[in-house]
Amino acid sequence: MGRMGAHPQSSNLATFQPNADCLIEVENLSHRYQTRQVLNKVSFNVSCGEIFGLLGPNGSGKTTLFRILSTLMPITSGTVRILGYDLTTAVKAIRHRLGVVFQHPGLDVKLTVVENLRHHGHLYGISGKTLRHRIAELLEQVGVSDRATDRVEVLSGGLQRRVELAKAMLHSPRVLLLDEPTSGLDVIARRQLNAELRALADTENILVFLTTHLLDDAEACNRVGILNNGSLVAIGAPDELKAQVGGDVVRIEGEVSERLSTAIAEKFSVSPVLTGGHLRVECERGHEFVRDLVAAFPNEIQTVQFGRPTLEDVFTKLTGNPFI
Ligand code: ADP
Repeated sequence: MGRMGAHPQSSNLATFQPNADCLIEVENLSHRYQTRQVLNKVSFNVSCGEIFGLLGPNGSGKTTLFRILSTLMPITSGTVRILGYDLTTAVKAIRHRLGVVFQHPGLDVKLTVVENLRHHGHLYGISGKTLRHRIAELLEQVGVSDRATDRVEVLSGGLQRRVELAKAMLHSPRVLLLDEPTSGLDVIARRQLNAELRALADTENILVFLTTHLLDDAEACNRVGILNNGSLVAIGAPDELKAQVGGDVVRIEGEVSERLSTAIAEKFSVSPVLTGGHLRVECERGHEFVRDLVAAFPNEIQTVQFGRPTLEDVFTKLTGNPFI
């Protein structure tokens, strides 16, 4: 396991304690497809009321972990408890208490919003007045009451995703799992969906676990686990994680090379990292560094940006790789 943040629930196998308040407990979870190891001793806990984001580049193992949590794929190594139930022995009990939103749309677009929800309610044994009341409550909650009798196919992608949220919440699960819920949405719809999730987590007092490869989505979570090549390399609140980087981050773009990197390192006693076609330097007082840098290398440097560290910087610092 890589470096971890200081959150009390961060993974530390030596001190791992089952906790009654934890709704998801993942301990030492590994998974391989044939000979390929795609999850490597992943451990973390998530509590009620939290929105936890599993952030990782494509291929890092997010969907594999999601499929295990959502009971679609059996565990082959490690332990997962959800609401205190062991995932290997109590799949049925867990399934009933999970709300799941998959990456691929799960609505019948030829039916209306209400028809989709009603059908789903019946599958869970909810009917009559109880169902009508719950549907109205959730459509109000996710802001699509006025579209209740529209066919799903005429709704925008963002509205459809909100209907999926309502559908997943219909049977009042304690745990809501979402696989890349904002994929394919524009930036406004993404923000709205993240706000809806926040409101749902608060009003329904549920745990929200989502996967994402988008840094903005991760920023909107209470805590983030960063997955790289199947290993959890960091876990903590976004601000906590960014504080690990500290100072400012300067990105130098243009004809950057190892030679330029070495020259900058020698002149300013810093440690540039050549990654993703730019040089990345962590330093204090970035504005002064940028001024001195441009003065020292006027011909080599075309563009310089600097700012506070982002989750991308956290990823790069921990893995040495660009986040792509
Ligand atoms: P992510 O969701 O982060 O993109 P995935 O969990 O989908 O990551 O995939 C992790 C790795 O496992 C990738 O290298 C992928 O190619 C591989 N993989 C995913 N599903 C299978 C499978 N059914 N068989 C073999 N390899 C797979």
